[in-house]
Amino acid sequence: MVNRPRRTGRQVMPTDQAPEGALTKDAKPILSFAPRRRGKPPAHLADLDFEQRQKVLVDAGLPKFRADQLSRHYFQRHIADPAQMPDLPKSMVDQVQQSLMPPLIKKVHTLETDDGKTLKHLWELFDGARVESVLMRYPSRTTLCISSQAGCGMACPFCATGQMGLTRNLSTAEIIEQVRMAALACENGDLAGGPTRLSNIVFMGMGEPLANYRAIINSLQRMIEEPPHGFGLSARNISVSTVGLVPAIDKLADLGYPVTLAVSLHAPDDELRDELIPINSRWKVGELLDAARRYFVKTGRRVSIEYALIKDMNDHPWRAQLLADELNKRGHGWAHVNPIPLNPTPGSIWTASTSRAQNEFVETLRNAGIVTTIRDTRGSDIDGACGQLATSVAKEEESSDE
Ligand code: SAH
Repeated sequence: MVNRPRRTGRQVMPTDQAPEGALTKDAKPILSFAPRRRGKPPAHLADLDFEQRQKVLVDAGLPKFRADQLSRHYFQRHIADPAQMPDLPKSMVDQVQQSLMPPLIKKVHTLETDDGKTLKHLWELFDGARVESVLMRYPSRTTLCISSQAGCGMACPFCATGQMGLTRNLSTAEIIEQVRMAALACENGDLAGGPTRLSNIVFMGMGEPLANYRAIINSLQRMIEEPPHGFGLSARNISVSTVGLVPAIDKLADLGYPVTLAVSLHAPDDELRDELIPINSRWKVGELLDAARRYFVKTGRRVSIEYALIKDMNDHPWRAQLLADELNKRGHGWAHVNPIPLNPTPGSIWTASTSRAQNEFVETLRNAGIVTTIRDTRGSDIDGACGQLATSVAKEEESSDE
């Protein structure tokens, strides 16, 4: 069921149709960090570091050296089915599948747009939960947008996933499987333009990555480490996007991986951000920007400030100026701003800013010395990212069940 936000005065008031537990009695969205209790996804090679994989094999009575072989099939050749590994004795196939390589995600639906240069996949997990990922080919890179949770507990009223509530955290391997499948799709030439290589990852699909911290860190390791440990992707080509969980931003900074931090700010003032991003009740704009700045200082990576431009909500020139002032007072050149026109969710009372307002917003930031790039809206005609595919497929299925 989709919860459609309704607006009363300046307040965003979700309707009483929200998933159970997502709202308080007076209809304010509540945040949820603890997923509802569900069974765990089966353990998988991609959950484990190399030594742990060896241990699982030894415990299953299989030779330790198979860890290298299986890991190379998985991370270099992107094969996850032991039956497709010619150098694995047939007698071991079942055992390897059970102990290390159970199937974890199943493709439910694919949508294609941008002349075949964007592919969006909806995946079903072992317990029926669904998540999506989007693969986008650009002239100089191919980027995958992945999900970190099924649903999301952050309850942002303009975001389709925020309306679903949190189903559960994804396991490391469920996150990594999205990457493997995309790498395979690239090699197989599924994207228009022929075979290519997956180069960039953004945690901008469903979920709040920093609310699933352990799995995110493990999955970053699997992405970055060289085979047989991981895929060997460049950390600089990976972005983690967050609503602003300040302690987790600091923990991530301490790890020192040169991944890019993207902060979903959407408003430079607490009055409006309290409404748009419920977690702002916990960590205010000032605290969040301080943490973002610390991230830059520790990692040397310029922070991206994400800003969905919503007509007459957050697109005023004075807000652009306030945003520039807030960034500049913490230093110069440490952050860039990525405005993106709002991709309205079905039934949303909000729309994207006019191009005039958008241009003025961008100009105000640039005049204040802030590097500003409008983020492209790849895939918005196939329901963008942000949980819209999962929602629209669920609705179709509902109506075909009737
Ligand atoms: N939870 C994380 C990552 C997921 S969303 C976060 O909030 O950063 C990825 C980006 O899409 C975020 O910047 C989010 O604010 C933005 N977004 C969500 N819904 C949107 C919409 N309807 N239109 C445009 N951007 C949206």
